[in-house]
Amino acid sequence: MSARSYPTHDVEVEGAVERGRAAARALAALTVEERVGHLTRLRHAILVRREEIIDVIQADTSKSRSDILVSEIFGALDVIRWCEDNAASALADEKVPTPLTMMGKKSFIAYEPLGTVLVISPWNYPFYQAMAPIALNLAAGNTVLYKPSEHTPLRGLIESLLEEASVAPAWVQVHYGEGDVGAALLEQGPDKVMFTGSTATGKKVMAAAAERLVPVELELGGKDAMIVFDDVTIERAVAGALWGGLTATGQSCTSVERIYVQRGIYDAFVAALADGARRIKQSTDEDGDSDIGAMITPSQIGIVAEHLADAVAAGATLRTGEEWDHTSAMIPPLVLTDVPETAQMATEETFGPILPVYPFETEAEVIERANDSVYGLTASVWSKDLDRADRVARALRVGGVSINNVMATESTPALPFGGVGLSGMGRYKGVNGLRAFTNAKSVVVDKDSDVIEANWFPYTSKKYEMFVAMMEAWFSDGPTRLPRFGVLGTRLESYAKKARR
Ligand code: NDP
Repeated sequence: MSARSYPTHDVEVEGAVERGRAAARALAALTVEERVGHLTRLRHAILVRREEIIDVIQADTSKSRSDILVSEIFGALDVIRWCEDNAASALADEKVPTPLTMMGKKSFIAYEPLGTVLVISPWNYPFYQAMAPIALNLAAGNTVLYKPSEHTPLRGLIESLLEEASVAPAWVQVHYGEGDVGAALLEQGPDKVMFTGSTATGKKVMAAAAERLVPVELELGGKDAMIVFDDVTIERAVAGALWGGLTATGQSCTSVERIYVQRGIYDAFVAALADGARRIKQSTDEDGDSDIGAMITPSQIGIVAEHLADAVAAGATLRTGEEWDHTSAMIPPLVLTDVPETAQMATEETFGPILPVYPFETEAEVIERANDSVYGLTASVWSKDLDRADRVARALRVGGVSINNVMATESTPALPFGGVGLSGMGRYKGVNGLRAFTNAKSVVVDKDSDVIEANWFPYTSKKYEMFVAMMEAWFSDGPTRLPRFGVLGTRLESYAKKARR
C-alpha cells in the first residue's frame, strides 16, 4: 500500500461563505438533472479509482482494506446512486391540497437550495462522511464548505475526484485544519451546518450556530443496544454482533456497544461470541484478507483503555483480548461480561472494539434498560417473533432500528439517518434528509380578479355574523355540512365584494 499524493489548493478561510454563496447562484441555476449529472461522473470516477482511494484512506486510518471497501466506498456510491435516481422526484414541486375555504387557489411546496452549507466531518469514515453530504448538497443545489478532521484529511483526494466529475472548485471548498478552522467558517454564518462528531463538540457547534441563527444538523455519538431474544439462530446473531461491534474497529457512531441477551441463550451466546472474536483477523492488510484494522487516533486508544480498566476494576470479566497491552493501536476484540451498568463502558461512548454482553429476562425489562441512556442513535432487535421485534423496535427511543440485522438502517440510503437525545438532531439521507438541505418554500397561487377575500378588511358586524355561521357549518359534522358551507360561503363572498366603510 502506498498512497498517492495530490496537488492541493489551499483555500482561504476568510470570505469562504461569501464565495460559497456567490458560486451557489450558478449551481442553483442548473436543473436537478444537470446537477446529478456531475454525481454520475463522480460515481464513475470512484468506481474506477477505488484501489487508489482505498490506499489513501488506509494511509490515514490504518483500517483493513475490506472494511474500507464495504463501508466507505460502497456506502458513498450507494448514497450517490440514490441521489442520481431520486433527487429529481424528491426536489420536484410538491402539490398539496388547498382547502375549500380557499377555493380557486393552488398550493405547492418548492424545494429550493439553501445557499452554502458547512459540513464538518470526523475521522472515523473520512471518505464516506465527505462524499455523502457533498453529494446530497450538490443534488440539492447547495455549494459546500467541507472541513475534514485534521486526523484523516485524505489531502487532495476529494478535490481530485470532484475535478474529474467536472465539479467546479468553487462548488466544494475543502478547508484543511483543526477545529478552529471549522469554528472560523461557522462564524461567517453559512446557510446551514452539518456536523458529525462528538457530543461535546456538537454542543459547541450548536452554541456558535445559535449566535447567527445558522440551522444545525448534528450527528453525534451513540451507545447502541443490540437486543437478542432466546428464539434466534444464535450463529447468525453472533455473526451480526461481531460485525456490528467491530466494523471500523468499533469506531463507528452506530457500533453495537451494549449486547442484551435473553437468559435462556446467554451462556451459549457468550461462548460463541468469544470464539468468533478470537477468530477475527486484524491487520492493516494489502489484499483485503483481513477483518479489521487498527485504531485511528491515539486519544481513542486512551479512552478504550480507560473504559476497560474502569469496567474490570468494577468487577467485569474480560473474555477475549487479555493480551492487549493497553497502548497498542491494534486493539483486539474485547468481549466482556458482568460489566456493571454504572461503569463508563456501559454509559459513555467507548468507540472501540468492545463487546459487553448483559443478560436479561423479560421484554419490558430490556426495553427499559436499552432506553436508559443519554444517547439514542440506533439499535437492533433480534427475534423470530416479528410482532415482538416490531413492538420492541417501536418502544426504543432511538433514530433507527434494524430488526434481525445490524447497522442496516444506515446502509439503506433511502432511510433518513440521525438520532435523538445526546445523539443529535436532524436527519440526513433519504427524501427527508435531502430536503433537510433545502428551503421548503410554500407557494399559493391565485388568479387576478375582482374578488375581495372575505377575510380581508373591512370587518363589519354583519361579516362577523356571516363568518360565525360559515365557521359553524365548516367545522360541524354530518351530511349537511358541505352544502350549508357552500351557501353561506357564496353569500359571504358576495357581501365581501360590496362591503365598504
Ligand atoms: P470532534 O467532535 O472533536 O471532531 C469532529 C470534527 O469537528 C472534526 O473535524 C474537528 O476538527 C471539528 N471540530 C473540533 N472542534 C470544533 C469547533 N469548536 N468548531 C467546529 N469544528 C470543530 O471529534 P474528535 O475527533 O475529538 O473525537 C472525540 C470523540 O468523538 C470520540 O472519542 C468519539 O467518541 C466521538 N466521535 C464520534 C463520531 C461520530 O460519528 N458520531 C465520529 C468521531 C468521533 P479536528 O478533528 O480537525 O480537530
